[in-house]
Amino acid sequence: MEGYKFFEQVNSAFDQAASYTDFDKGLLSQMKICNDVLHITFPLEKDDGKIEVIEAWRVEHSHHKLPTKGGIRYSMTVNEDETMALAALMTYKCAVVDVPFGGAKGGIKIDKSRYSESELERITRRYTYELMKKNFIGPGIDVPAPDYGTGAQEMGWILDTFRQMSTDINAEGCVTGKPVEMGGIRGRTEATGRGVYFGIKEACDNKEDMKNLGLEPGLEGKTFVVQGLGNVGYHAAKYMAEAGAKMVGVAEIGGSIYSEKGIDLDKLMEYRKEKGLIAGFEGTETLEDNSSVLKSECDILIPAALENQLNEKNADKIQAKIIGEAANGPTTAKAHQIIKDRGALIIPDNYLNAGGVTVSYFEWLKNIQHMRFGRMGKRFEENSYKKILSVIETISDRKFTDKELGFLAQGGGESELVDSGLEETMINAYNQINEIRKKHGVDLRTAAFISAINKVGIIYGRMGIFP
Ligand code: NAD
Repeated sequence: MEGYKFFEQVNSAFDQAASYTDFDKGLLSQMKICNDVLHITFPLEKDDGKIEVIEAWRVEHSHHKLPTKGGIRYSMTVNEDETMALAALMTYKCAVVDVPFGGAKGGIKIDKSRYSESELERITRRYTYELMKKNFIGPGIDVPAPDYGTGAQEMGWILDTFRQMSTDINAEGCVTGKPVEMGGIRGRTEATGRGVYFGIKEACDNKEDMKNLGLEPGLEGKTFVVQGLGNVGYHAAKYMAEAGAKMVGVAEIGGSIYSEKGIDLDKLMEYRKEKGLIAGFEGTETLEDNSSVLKSECDILIPAALENQLNEKNADKIQAKIIGEAANGPTTAKAHQIIKDRGALIIPDNYLNAGGVTVSYFEWLKNIQHMRFGRMGKRFEENSYKKILSVIETISDRKFTDKELGFLAQGGGESELVDSGLEETMINAYNQINEIRKKHGVDLRTAAFISAINKVGIIYGRMGIFP
């Protein structure tokens, strides 16, 4: 949208929240600004021998905690303003979920579909090299992760490039979201979507909020629409559907579909793989453009594509009672106001999509401790449970079946521990921001910002100024 300034939007939400805190104005300004902004250009030799200039950024928003952390985006929308806004959001998001990192973000301005795999590899490796040369990457400096347009493959290339040029014993911790075979963690791929599900579930379990929205508590039977069936959107939809919610609409590039009866996610993914788009999927109505479905009737709308999707042009037509912001910055400030005035509940991005960075934190811990979670304790726990169960068998005269024993005497392996840590984090953070919301009579976005400002501000206050 013309004149849309993402960083300004983030800062205006920050300012609104800051008025509920007592921090000094100068300190608040220090918290808002981006500490380091790196803009780089480098040449790519294409497969046909032609040279193309690639433009990229990395922004470290806040050094109050190190390393800084944030994804890398491959998209034609990437620019300095967007990267600064996303880096700032990372600082606040990490604080909201008590993940001890400063915020950062990176981006390369490319349309991925125009490059071959080997060209993408060369772009990623050269970008990593540039980051290394400028001291913008390292397990204790700045740790990238996947974001829009990137995934485990790109993170693997980043690690390999870093390792070629570093003797750091913790080199594996220079990037998260890597393939498991390269030091990644089980559960990272689905983490953001799974966190979105935990957050929406927590909101829907709040009886008072549901009553105010005219809805029954719980996810069972609720209808939802998702925009963007990528990493985050797909996994959020998957867990929502598994919990009994019904997906009635999907928006994707090249078309949006709706069906009151519900849409089978797995079949839709198969169809998309085959046809390259979702329009025309059997049993659904294809709508005239890819954003019309956002305005359709549903209980929950999950924007999981890009920023600025709910704006002043469509906000008054959004019918959903709950907006679960899986993407970063999907709702503009004006749209937020319009949707809020209608009485809908917005679960904000700076809380809701924090599952990714939470599990990235677990991955980084795994890398610097050089050991998989559960390796020391899993068997010990299982043996302890078995001893307890055997005492129960003796005193109760009841023999457990092998199936029961397997279920009851289960120790925590990596997947189970990651999932449990993620659920705990999302629930705790929701309760924290909900308390703040009630205390100040504000919306959840402002509450999440207040929570973040308080946590980051206290550190800045104690740090003082160097030298
Ligand atoms: P992705 O590249 O895996 O998927 C994005 C999907 O959105 C694609 O399928 C794309 O076709 C679709 N899309 C793009 N523009 C669209 C439009 N106008 N209408 C409908 N669909 C559209 O990206 P992702 O990693 O899932 O990221 C999605 C959002 O979630 C971004 O805002 C990102 O910053 C945020 N996020 C991602 C992570 C993560 O771990 N990947 C973590 C936190 C936040």
